[in-house]
Amino acid sequence: MSDDLIDASPQHASVSSFPVRPRILVADDEPLILEGLTRLLITRDYEVVAANGGCEALIAIGKQQFDVILLDLGMPDLNGNEVLRFVADRGVDTPVIVVSGDSTIDAAIRALRGGAADFVRKPYEPEELLRRIDNTLTQRRLEKENNHILQRLQQSEKWHRFLVNSSPDFIYTLDCDGRFTFVNDRVESLLGYRREDLVGQHYSLVIHEDDIARAEHVFNERRAGDRSARNIEIRLKCNPGVRRPRLMNGRCKAVELTATGMYDEEAGPFEQRFIGSYGVAKDVTERKQAEETVHYQAYHDLLTGLPNRALFRDHLGLMLAQAKRTQQPLAVLSLDLDHFKVINDSLGHTIGDELLLAVGARLRQCLREGDTLARLGGDEFAVLLPTLVSRGDVEHICRKIIQVLSKPVYVKGHEIYISVSIGACVAPEDGDMIDNLIRQAEIAMYQAKSQGRSRLLFWESGMQAPYSERMQIEADLRRALARNEFVLFYQPQVDTFTGEVRGFEALLRWWHPQRGLLTPADFIPVAEESGVIVPIGDWVLRQAGAQMADWRRAGLPPVRLSVNISARQLESPDFVDSVMRAVQVYSLDGQQMELEITESLLMRDFEANAIKLGRLSASGLRLAIDDFGTGYSSFKYLSRFPIHTLKIDQSFVQELDREENMSIVNAMIAMGRGMNLNVVAEGVETGSQLARLQQMQCHEMQGFFYSGPLSGHEATTLLSQHARGFAQAEQAAAS
Ligand code: C2E
Ligand code: MG
Ligand code: MG
Repeated sequence: MSDDLIDASPQHASVSSFPVRPRILVADDEPLILEGLTRLLITRDYEVVAANGGCEALIAIGKQQFDVILLDLGMPDLNGNEVLRFVADRGVDTPVIVVSGDSTIDAAIRALRGGAADFVRKPYEPEELLRRIDNTLTQRRLEKENNHILQRLQQSEKWHRFLVNSSPDFIYTLDCDGRFTFVNDRVESLLGYRREDLVGQHYSLVIHEDDIARAEHVFNERRAGDRSARNIEIRLKCNPGVRRPRLMNGRCKAVELTATGMYDEEAGPFEQRFIGSYGVAKDVTERKQAEETVHYQAYHDLLTGLPNRALFRDHLGLMLAQAKRTQQPLAVLSLDLDHFKVINDSLGHTIGDELLLAVGARLRQCLREGDTLARLGGDEFAVLLPTLVSRGDVEHICRKIIQVLSKPVYVKGHEIYISVSIGACVAPEDGDMIDNLIRQAEIAMYQAKSQGRSRLLFWESGMQAPYSERMQIEADLRRALARNEFVLFYQPQVDTFTGEVRGFEALLRWWHPQRGLLTPADFIPVAEESGVIVPIGDWVLRQAGAQMADWRRAGLPPVRLSVNISARQLESPDFVDSVMRAVQVYSLDGQQMELEITESLLMRDFEANAIKLGRLSASGLRLAIDDFGTGYSSFKYLSRFPIHTLKIDQSFVQELDREENMSIVNAMIAMGRGMNLNVVAEGVETGSQLARLQQMQCHEMQGFFYSGPLSGHEATTLLSQHARGFAQAEQAAAS
């Protein structure tokens, strides 16, 4: 801030007022009159300086300040009019009352023209003269006060103008026709307009065409105070004539607008005269871009840029609704490359990735514009054919696909032969539920593979092989709790910079009597479907609590333990109590227990979950968003939950080695940090991934690079080694 602004701040402006006793100069060449006046004034408590003649008067004026001068006109050494001229020439700011024996009107007019404030005739009436003096003093005081207020107003206006113009936000006022009457300096760097280009223009000049309707409502805001429009998101257009890509960063800016109606303050008490509106627009372009990036990746496969499973499900849902109206069948295809794993393992991931890209491009060639091609993961693709005439159409397209893919693909000097197995089902004939249709197509695809690959099979109701396996698992699951077959493993979560263990994630394993050690993928879906997950989840919470109590008793450093929560568990009415019981039974510090929940799960029953998690958070428990990036990724909704930790899904972390995926992870980390969250990267497998994460300021990591999941015993050993290392480091530092 510049110096003159600091000076302009109110406390620096001193309020000058008259001294307690006003000081009056009396100038007259008649000693008697001089004495008489002096005595009269002293009796009224004025401070008086007497000057015998014009010259003495000038000397007195040069020496000190007076509040009033009483001046005789006819003085032999220097007459009153000459004294007046001197006062005027020097800019002396003291009112002069001429007290003269010259009673002609000419004398009075001359004196007043010469700058006298008043004219009193001799012989004077003492009371009349005193009244005139008093009037002059009062008037002078009012004038000074007015000047002072005016000065403060000017200073304050200067100050406000500075604040408004140096604001990072765009600030404007509009008249009642919607034309700019004021815009601050920020508009230049934000939109590339000079202030004078915009003043007088209608606001629609800067509004993005698609936002005009919404803008109308905000820019014509008539409400004032709390009810006025707040944080409305709108796009503003940059000046098309200006090319300043670095500063402007794009042709259009997203802003959050807050606007208020302005009313004439001078209108009467019952009259409201609208005179326009004013508003503040905050640039949120960067935040929007980051959100869009995160949103895009939530619905797309990062490698091929094709829709992912979530977007494929969305499209299928839409098309099913449309098919119902038009009575036209649609088909879902599941495609899986044959022997892709062999190619990937022998030629490496980079070539594997190139091959998948090439396959994606060839598949696209075989389809029409309205068809959806998605990559569901690995080497599995899916196709949605929304308008069919018959199954013959499906066969025709699939023959084309099989034929196109049978031609060799050339990647980095390798000639690769590949083939594809396809499963298909047709709606509504085979059903009309999204997930069922996808699963049936997949079952048919597996059948196609088992029948010799490189072929198409339509789903038939007999194809139920995977289900019988499921039923066996479900039966075993029900007995597993009673037989104590579950066990928890603990995977460390460590500080990316210091390598210190900050916490563990509890991961469930099942010692199956016949099949050996099973991981969650083998049984959690069945446990979910059958509801057995609720008692299992309860067991996990208690087991995690018991482990933390053990560590505490052994005097190990306090760490966080994260527990995964599944859909059925969260929905169960007993959920909050079940968590609180585990905390209470083992006298845990709630801060040490973290619940991991995926985004999609949170959004399933938004309001109910917000209440439950709010209660747990109020009791001190922590909440982590698991597999972040694979769900909705809407920060607006997420911010309504009491979240502490963001766990970036391993699919993004593992893609970190590819330049183009860095910005997504970077955006996620930046946003997590921006929301003050602890950001944990999952699935860190290599040193280079760790280095990238460190660069991006990710707080913690979890993954095979540091350690896979450990048994309870191994985790305890790791913690105690850590505690010892810590104590030794402290000792070394102390000695
Ligand atoms: P999650 O919560 O995302 O857990 C991380 C998974 O990534 C674990 O798989 C872990 O072993 C694996 N992982 C860790 N580091 C790496 C790495 O560097 N590379 C790779 N490729 N993988 C790594 P796990 O143990 O098979 O668990 C799978 C999922 O099962 C978990 O995903 C979680 O959603 C669920 N789950 C695990 N335990 C429980 C539980 O007690 N209850 C419930 N409801 N779900 C659980
Ligand atoms: Mg987890
Ligand atoms: Mg995860």
